[in-house]
Amino acid sequence: MAEQCIFCKIRDGQVKSNILHRDDTCFVIRDIAPKAPVHLLVIPNEHFTVLTSLTPGHAKMLGGMFIAAQQMAVREGVDKAGYRLVINQGDHAGQQVPHLHLHVLGGRQLTAMG
Ligand code: 5GP
Ligand code: ZN
Repeated sequence: MAEQCIFCKIRDGQVKSNILHRDDTCFVIRDIAPKAPVHLLVIPNEHFTVLTSLTPGHAKMLGGMFIAAQQMAVREGVDKAGYRLVINQGDHAGQQVPHLHLHVLGGRQLTAMG
């Protein structure tokens, strides 16, 4: 699974992508099919599939992802108007890539979820 994962390939430079931010917990790219003027993906460096496998040891990874998300929201100029953070988990949520990621959506009025 991990060998086939597009986000692992981007992390390792096997697939080219503009990496906007990288630190010891995560990296950030623009979504290839943006649903809003700002649509970023905050991706943990560790290949991680299901939230049910989270342990207290993942606290640094999750914290790093949220810090990166809010820093990127400031950098992209959407922090004042507002933005949305989304994690799609599993089939019912429509998850396409089985590597945990946080969507950062902003730059327009977002509609209600569901
Ligand atoms: P999910 O539905 O799994 O929460 O979101 C996966 C997201 O990854 C989708 O919004 C999709 O457009 C994006 N995506 C899939 N493949 C690539 C890729 O190769 N590059 C980038 N930048 N985004 C991708
Ligand atoms: Zn992966």
